[in-house]
Amino acid sequence: MSVLEVKNLHVSIEEKEILKGVNLVMNTNEIHAIMGPNGTGKSTLSAAIMGHPSYIVTEGEILLDGQNVLEMAVDERARAGLFLAVQYPSEIAGITNAEFMRAAINARRPEDDKISVMKFIQKLDEKMAVLDMPEEMAERYLNEGFSGGEKKRNEILQLMMIEPTFAILDEIDSGLDIDALKVVSKGVNAMRGENFGALIITHYQRLLNYVTPDVVHVMMNGIIVKTGGPELAKRLEAEGYKGIRDELGLDIVLEDD
Ligand code: ADP
Ligand code: MG
Repeated sequence: MSVLEVKNLHVSIEEKEILKGVNLVMNTNEIHAIMGPNGTGKSTLSAAIMGHPSYIVTEGEILLDGQNVLEMAVDERARAGLFLAVQYPSEIAGITNAEFMRAAINARRPEDDKISVMKFIQKLDEKMAVLDMPEEMAERYLNEGFSGGEKKRNEILQLMMIEPTFAILDEIDSGLDIDALKVVSKGVNAMRGENFGALIITHYQRLLNYVTPDVVHVMMNGIIVKTGGPELAKRLEAEGYKGIRDELGLDIVLEDD
């Protein structure tokens, strides 16, 4: 079992404090969801965990099995088993999707145990079939000209190929129609197990109808204000974020006020 711990995390962007003391403990074999209004710091948390240079950690710790993640460079974090599916995947011309995934898999394997081309292709075919992706997408440049839905599906393909220990999926559901949402959920559910944990970041409850989280956290104004089970997501769907804000007496203006 692996554990990812975020302790009293404070993060600033351009000198403005966005995260104000986030605490979170995730084990493998668990799926956590973080829900929260827009602009509350959800993407900031994922960027800080992965080591985006614009996000400055001013206080607190991130530990992966007790190792200090904040001391690791971005590529070391990936090799240690962290994976981030970003809200807006970049297009990279000149490297194909397949080349990218093979390099990412091999970066996590020792020098004398690289994945063979045969094994790689076998695995790729298998995972693409699960995600209903046409074979030619493997040979296209990374995300170049992919539709919004194809990019999200491709993030899940990378997840299934790279098999990280912990995945953070930032708004993987945004802009997906219901069929694509089901496919993406199928991919995430297929990853569930002893050696995998996920943090699903979402604004909406919809995805959580297909991927049932073990733990749901509500983030507002840069901190986690409430943690519960899947019923908490249902409550948010029924009441919006207002209910929890008012219950906790928080001084926050919401988009739907
Ligand atoms: P969420 O993902 O919950 O919608 P974000 O983490 O993206 O929220 O943003 C939190 C806050 O940080 C917002 O007020 C946003 O405007 C601000 N912010 C995010 N990225 C930047 C940036 N690169 N420069 C300045 N402010 C930023
Ligand atoms: Mg975001």
